[in-house]
Amino acid sequence: MGHIAIVGAGLAGLRCATLLQASGHEVDVYERSETIGGRMATDEVDGFLLDHGFHVMQTAYPTSKRAFDFKAMGAKAFEPGAVIVQQRKTRAKFWTLADPFRRPVQGALSGLNRFASPLDLLRVARLRFGVRRGSIERVFEGESNDTADYLAKRGFSKRMIQRFFHPLFSGIFLEDDLRTNERMFRFVFRMMSEGDMVLPVGGIASAPKQLAQRLGNERIHLNANVLILDDQTLEIDGKPTAFDAIVRAFNPEQANEKRHVWTLHFDAQHSPLKSNHILLNGDVRIKNGLIAHLAVPSDVQPSYAPDGRSLVTITVVGERADTLGLLDADSIEAAVRDEVDVWFSGASKEWRLLAAQHIEHALPEVGADLHLTAGPRVTGFECGDHTLHGSVEGALLSAETIANNVDVHLRN
Ligand SMILES: Cc1cc2nc3c(=O)[nH]c(=O)nc-3n(C[C@H](O)[C@H](O)[C@H](O)COP(=O)(O)OP(=O)(O)OC[C@H]3O[C@@H](n4cnc5c(N)ncnc54)[C@H](O)[C@@H]3O)c2cc1C
Repeated sequence: MGHIAIVGAGLAGLRCATLLQASGHEVDVYERSETIGGRMATDEVDGFLLDHGFHVMQTAYPTSKRAFDFKAMGAKAFEPGAVIVQQRKTRAKFWTLADPFRRPVQGALSGLNRFASPLDLLRVARLRFGVRRGSIERVFEGESNDTADYLAKRGFSKRMIQRFFHPLFSGIFLEDDLRTNERMFRFVFRMMSEGDMVLPVGGIASAPKQLAQRLGNERIHLNANVLILDDQTLEIDGKPTAFDAIVRAFNPEQANEKRHVWTLHFDAQHSPLKSNHILLNGDVRIKNGLIAHLAVPSDVQPSYAPDGRSLVTITVVGERADTLGLLDADSIEAAVRDEVDVWFSGASKEWRLLAAQHIEHALPEVGADLHLTAGPRVTGFECGDHTLHGSVEGALLSAETIANNVDVHLRN
């Protein structure tokens, strides 16, 4: 058994550490910031839980099923499907697109609402059937173009792509062209059709906290000043220290990642939504809008807001804001308020801004040119979502792979 240093206490580093510890190794995790969790963080502001960016956990991710106890987290789910808002001359129109397979009655009704043509609904059904067939590895096989091409090739109407797929998936991939590799799209679509999008009672930071608890806080060294000198030597506060193996659980190129997002959190007296769906902005591309989607986390998980208040969380994809020349928090807030006031008859006048977060270097680029498979691109003992794809699944699966590789290496 060996003594292993893991550098980085994001999800990948913590998962890798818990697995190696469970295999009998001694593990120390070195994190340069003052908290664990990396990109999965939650702030408490005036009794509200503000996740860093709108962030959900997918119960269908195979690695999440292995790594987390959703029940212990008190996780609660959004309604499957979405509400789509479309600006009309005098007022906004709201369409509910329920998931007809999991909510048959609502689904049948939503089919009648004429937002989507019968042909598009049929194509969704075929897509759903296609991506769920066979193993997960299957969705990473075949063509490797971008998502926009993939949807067009499957015959979806422009209206369906621009009004439904674009706001939903630009808000997930945090890019504005649907240029993300179609394999990633197929994977996420499959996960969305197989499980729920949930929020833990303590905010999204509960996920890394659960792993850290399993590991033991004494194994985690925060505010660490470390440098990887070679495969077995870490410089800690200027002093070389020997280990049997060192795992790099962070992206050394993170500062070059371009995908970014603005997330605005508001304190509202009432929820503007009538159901626990996410609201997609059906006009975001067609009418040069700004917001990708709006959610009310406190409708789903009441712990996100104090009693009698609602938390409204709005996602603006960074590239969209850039295109519109909105480059600072004040101008983005003003444009967001203008947009939601059309939808909810001026309701935002009553909303108090709790935070305008700008999350830079949010996700790795996963374009059509990337050789994306079901497993991580392994280069030595390095894990993190950048070695697979930008998601909790990407972070956890890479961690499991590297933990196994380190264990095998130390046993031989
Ligand atoms: C706004 C936003 C929304 C998201 N929403 C979702 C979602 O809904 N569903 C989903 O599946 N995924 C989502 N993701 C993606 C998911 O959060 C990430 O894929 C995952 O958290 C990445 O974990 P990681 O451990 O690979 O990296 P990170 O979380 O980046 O962790 C790396 C850690 O290493 C530390 N570190 C870096 N350099 C050093 C160093 N030199 N020494 C010591 N420590 C160092 C960092 O401080 C950090 O703590 C979202 C991401 C963002 C930004």
